[in-house]
Amino acid sequence: MYFGSVRFFKNLILLVLVILFAVPVVFALRLNDKLGQEEAENARLEQALAAAEQRISAEEPADPLSSAEPGAVTGGEPAESPDLYYQSLYPDFYAPESYHATERTVGTIYLTFDDGPSENTDRILAILAEQNVKATFFVTGESSEGNGQRLRDIVAQGHSLGMHSYSHNYGQIYQSVEAFLDDMYQVFTLIREETGETPTLFRFPGGSINSYNAGVYQELVAEMLRRGFVPYDWNLSGEDAAIPQPGTAQIIQNVVENAGRMERGFVLLHDSAYKVNTVNALETIIQQLRDMGFEFDRITPETKPVWFVYTD
Ligand code: ZN
Repeated sequence: MYFGSVRFFKNLILLVLVILFAVPVVFALRLNDKLGQEEAENARLEQALAAAEQRISAEEPADPLSSAEPGAVTGGEPAESPDLYYQSLYPDFYAPESYHATERTVGTIYLTFDDGPSENTDRILAILAEQNVKATFFVTGESSEGNGQRLRDIVAQGHSLGMHSYSHNYGQIYQSVEAFLDDMYQVFTLIREETGETPTLFRFPGGSINSYNAGVYQELVAEMLRRGFVPYDWNLSGEDAAIPQPGTAQIIQNVVENAGRMERGFVLLHDSAYKVNTVNALETIIQQLRDMGFEFDRITPETKPVWFVYTD
């Protein structure tokens, strides 16, 4: 008789054991499979996220100045994307802080002087001091060579000093992101060595979008922002770079006639040995803008920029 026999009980025990093991194992395998799918999905999402963040966030772990959000790029994967190789160039080419330009003070005029320093810098500084106005100088490296004292005067008198490329050579600096970084790094180190200050502000020669950088400007902006540098375009211009040089009255009118429409004004002027009319126009520009109710300030890394790509 099978039921009740020793063999029956042995098989019964075996069956129970099989069920006890098999059910959880099958269940676990199925669960594991599902988790595996989720893990794969998560990994894919993380990868995509990391790739996206690599484009916009700093990821220079060796650089203490970098504001990298820790863990923004997980898994210890460096930027392998071949078109982002330039992120690893010039590892000390970083602003002291990450981008935090949110201050938007209505009624403020930011006078900016490009291309200096020059023989006119001293006169410009004297007028600004007389008028008790702080301004911003976007200097080039070539103009700064041998002009260290003027760079230090600008800083010592409370103005802001920003980068405007080393060479100001459009055809060269806008060839590629690497060419741009190479050039800007030179003016960055020059300013740092001459003044002891690390520049954060910069202005693209020709502005953030121009006919020379149409193919690379988005990458240039993204890479410079990633390094903490803030570009400033302008919304008012003395048009004093025009050839022939406009007269003093024309430069004044160019700035003032459009200022009334602006909540904030970023005024483009030039600091160059030959642009004497700009210097002659400066005092009246300040007075007329004051009469319109504007106050003056220098640009700082907190100042929300105007960019040609955006309206303000
Ligand atoms: Zn310029």
